[in-house]
Amino acid sequence: MGPFSDKTEVLIVGAGPVGLMMACQLANHGISFRIIDKKETVSTNSGALIIQARTLEIFGQMGIASEAIVEGIIADKINIISKGKKNAITSIGDIGGKLSPYPFLLMLEQSKTVKLLLKFINERGFNVERGVSFISMVREKDSVTTLVILPDGSEKQIFSQYVVAADGVRSSVRDFLKISFEGFTYPKPIFIMDCKAKTDIPPGEISFSFTNDLIAGFFPLQGSRWRIDGAFPCTNVAMESGTFKEIEKNFQLGLKVNFMPEDAEWFSVTRSQQKVSQRLSDREYFSGR
Ligand SMILES: Cc1cc2nc3c(=O)[nH]c(=O)nc-3n(C[C@H](O)[C@H](O)[C@H](O)COP(=O)(O)OP(=O)(O)OC[C@H]3O[C@@H](n4cnc5c(N)ncnc54)[C@H](O)[C@@H]3O)c2cc1C
Repeated sequence: MGPFSDKTEVLIVGAGPVGLMMACQLANHGISFRIIDKKETVSTNSGALIIQARTLEIFGQMGIASEAIVEGIIADKINIISKGKKNAITSIGDIGGKLSPYPFLLMLEQSKTVKLLLKFINERGFNVERGVSFISMVREKDSVTTLVILPDGSEKQIFSQYVVAADGVRSSVRDFLKISFEGFTYPKPIFIMDCKAKTDIPPGEISFSFTNDLIAGFFPLQGSRWRIDGAFPCTNVAMESGTFKEIEKNFQLGLKVNFMPEDAEWFSVTRSQQKVSQRLSDREYFSGR
């Protein structure tokens, strides 16, 4: 079964980091698959930024760890800045030094992780089918028939033995299977920004700054850029009304740090959630519930 045959062993829905890593592992083990994504393009923002040692070890097994390290920044210190004063510096450069060949945190933008994983499958003859959306699926005896919509609006069936739902937090596969997604949402919105900045915060280090009203984390990105995660200066900001301008005017003054954001490439307001799917596989569905 070739990569683009209508029959395949595994259909992966979603080509974010999770779906792509699944694709890489299947390609490595010689298992045929197709991977679809409803989006036509890949996001360019920093998203899931920090790569831990264990992930790098898997990248090492795949032969892509050095490429990942070259594309990222090794942050070897964490600074704690309280009310404008540097209170503590923690060295993280040697955490797990005897346990892992990668004893550090790697700042690697999600867009770069996705690019690396894509390259890995491309080199093995696979590609993501973009603009293709999961709609529904029907169980057969030993297989699943999945209905998808193609970019031209037509519908198509894909036959596979397994379907992997890697379609993110708003998973339509999970919804279709009526698997509940339980947990809670934190009440306060946070902002996330990728930008350049005028600052004296050291570029190869992670810093957290606190005052009575504000908190923000500063994470170095390549190209003299920063990723900032922080709380809004005032408590009752509605997500819809949170703007970069609002942050800009309070930022430096409120946090008491010398950090003036400029050229915001990406600005997003969100509320953190802690949720987990009630089931991670749906055997019941496939055994004829
Ligand atoms: C603003 C922001 C900041 C973040 N910061 C961090 C961070 O600092 N650290 C961290 O660990 N994580 C962070 N995250 C979360 C991180 O981006 C996700 O955890 C990660 O993307 C999850 O990967 P995934 O592959 O499971 O899902 P996704 O990356 O969401 O990928 C799912 C894919 O499935 C596709 N899809 C969805 N529905 C369908 C369908 N019906 N048919 C076909 N395709 C479909 C989507 O188009 C998408 O490409 C952040 C996310 C956001 C939005």
